[in-house]
Amino acid sequence: MAPVFDKKNVLVIYVLGGPGAGKGTQCSKLVDEYGFCHLSAGDLLRAEQQREGSSYGELIRTYIREGNIVPMEVTIKLLENAMDAALKENRSGAGWSAGKGRFLIDGFPRKMDQAVKFDEEVCTASLVLFYQTTEEVMLKRLMKRGESSGRDDDNVESIKKRFVTYKETTMPVINYYAEHGKVAEIDSTVSVEEVYENTQKVVAKILAAQEASS
Ligand code: ADP
Ligand code: AMP
Repeated sequence: MAPVFDKKNVLVIYVLGGPGAGKGTQCSKLVDEYGFCHLSAGDLLRAEQQREGSSYGELIRTYIREGNIVPMEVTIKLLENAMDAALKENRSGAGWSAGKGRFLIDGFPRKMDQAVKFDEEVCTASLVLFYQTTEEVMLKRLMKRGESSGRDDDNVESIKKRFVTYKETTMPVINYYAEHGKVAEIDSTVSVEEVYENTQKVVAKILAAQEASS
């Protein structure tokens, strides 16, 4: 069966990197400049956790606190629904017209099973933006973010668990896409502006290629 959304019409860029690497920060800049729809898997899961009547609230809470990967059925459905809703909004602007759109899918896929399923059944990603820095830098950023984020998992204990999950479960996903020539690795140790300059170069290229093929 073909994916729900054809990659000729719907551009999907996965945004990966360790917790606190700066994925969300860069995504919000890309939204401002290029009109992407930004879907953060973590944000969608936290919203579902809070939603009254959700049967997944407790399950999501536990997985997030333990830094574990939430079962893919939940995460993929939330993403697919959010994409569908964005495409039905009839957004205007570059990249958007009937049935066409551009998405940054942030913090996804974090495990091989969800990567394969999403590419095959929802939409095949065109690129992976991979933000790379050290655990020391990420820990410092997350501890600072934790002063105001209100997140259950921005504490040392959860952060350490998230690092282990990232190394053991998400790095193989990044390696898999690298083998397929889809990964753009960007050093996110430097300032937000410098990281963004390197991000822009990669994204401008993929948008030009998408334009040329559609
Ligand atoms: P992620 O989405 O990868 O978990 P965030 O974008 O939320 O990471 O960034 C984590 C924290 O680090 C935030 O408080 C953010 O303001 C800060 N931050 C992000 N990028 C940088 C950077 N290049 N230099 C310094 N701080 C950064
Ligand atoms: P984030 O907001 O990206 O830092 O993610 C916070 C937490 O949400 C992760 O530690 C996981 O527990 C969960 N989560 C985020 N993205 C995914 C995903 N793609 N698959 C499963 N769980 C996820």
